[in-house]
Amino acid sequence: MSHSPEFQRDLVALDCPACGGSFDLSQPRNVCPGCGRPLVVRYDLARIRAQVPRESLGRYGTDLWRYRAVLPFAPEFAVVRLGEGGTPLLPMARLAERLEVAELWLKEESGNPTQSFKARGLALAVNGAIAFGKRGIALPSAGNAGSAAAAYAAAAGIGCRIAVPDDTPEPFVLEQRAFGAEVRLVRGTISDAGKAIAEWASGPDWWNVATFKEPFRLEGKKTLGYEIAEQLGWNLPDVILYPTGGGTGLVGMWRAFREMFELGWLPGRMPRLVAVQVAGCAPIVRAFDAGEARATAWEGAVTVASGLRVPGPFADSLILEAIRGSGGTAVAVSEEDMLDAMLQLSADEGVFACPEGAATLAALRALRVSGEVKPDERVVIYDTGSGLKYPEAWRAALARRDPAGVRS
Ligand SMILES: *Cc1c(COP(=O)(O)O)cnc(C)c1O
Ligand SMILES: [Zn+2]
Repeated sequence: MSHSPEFQRDLVALDCPACGGSFDLSQPRNVCPGCGRPLVVRYDLARIRAQVPRESLGRYGTDLWRYRAVLPFAPEFAVVRLGEGGTPLLPMARLAERLEVAELWLKEESGNPTQSFKARGLALAVNGAIAFGKRGIALPSAGNAGSAAAAYAAAAGIGCRIAVPDDTPEPFVLEQRAFGAEVRLVRGTISDAGKAIAEWASGPDWWNVATFKEPFRLEGKKTLGYEIAEQLGWNLPDVILYPTGGGTGLVGMWRAFREMFELGWLPGRMPRLVAVQVAGCAPIVRAFDAGEARATAWEGAVTVASGLRVPGPFADSLILEAIRGSGGTAVAVSEEDMLDAMLQLSADEGVFACPEGAATLAALRALRVSGEVKPDERVVIYDTGSGLKYPEAWRAALARRDPAGVRS
């Protein structure tokens, strides 16, 4: 198939898992032109396998471009980069002992540009926009995605329009405006923000980089899987708990591990992928428990974990496929358990987590109680972003420890 020289030779096509369609990159593609569902990138993995041994990684740096052989761009394409990825996998020795698991690791993503793992996806999406010749990007966001998008758009010198729910924590909005983005506050959730963006940034000048509305954010998030595998010595964990909003990271890891099996980089045993949500917005957990292939929209979504307040994830079928295909599960934690897990990560391990990340620790506790995670297992949890951007959540968490001691 033909495509422009910005893309690497071994990028074969964009596939639609929903209808089986296959498309080239001779023109910009957001979603499947046939059925409107998400597109995923296909590479010629046999050819990459023959040419890129695992030992040759590192040629392009220690950030996520280390895995450039399995990313979309040609070697000559000058990517805009801010140091995304290459984050530590930290041993949580004290919590492993408390929760009685053999090994517990935390993938600490707050060291990314704009302090969250959204940088991985948006770095790829903004470079994709440039490769497609676009001069502006647009997206709805619960906070972190908008900040990352705004930073890369600033670095690339292109426009950026963001719609966020009007109760999005203020640090995000300040940051986005500082980067020169146009920001609109919208009543409701990210679903309503998505509708606002569709009107405000329509037309060919604006490239929609909403979750799964273009194929490259997934490629950026995929690097989480590559990093975890490499950081554990090419030896996958038994269980990975992921805080699931739009689901890019979960689907990305699922893709990464399958690619690595095909590349011969890993012995073939898939970790169980656990989608963690909160009780106030758990559409994936509900669909998983009911045995459904699609999720229905969650009414009245509420949680301080803004990244998990995604009532209708667009890639619901891909998320459910990754959970079931890996033998994993889906867990909803209460708001209180999530706040307590924030306190535990900070007091026991020195990690000032975002609420979404802390939810994975609360979910692990629940799975230890139910016996679904066993004492001899090796487990990975996430801190997906910095706690510093969630003053409300931290006030609420600290008030649980000491109701009198929190200044407003
Ligand atoms: C967006 C976000 C999530 C959810 O990530 P998805 O890949 O959309 O499921 C989790 N944590 C934080 C901090 C986020 O910003
Ligand atoms: Zn399709």
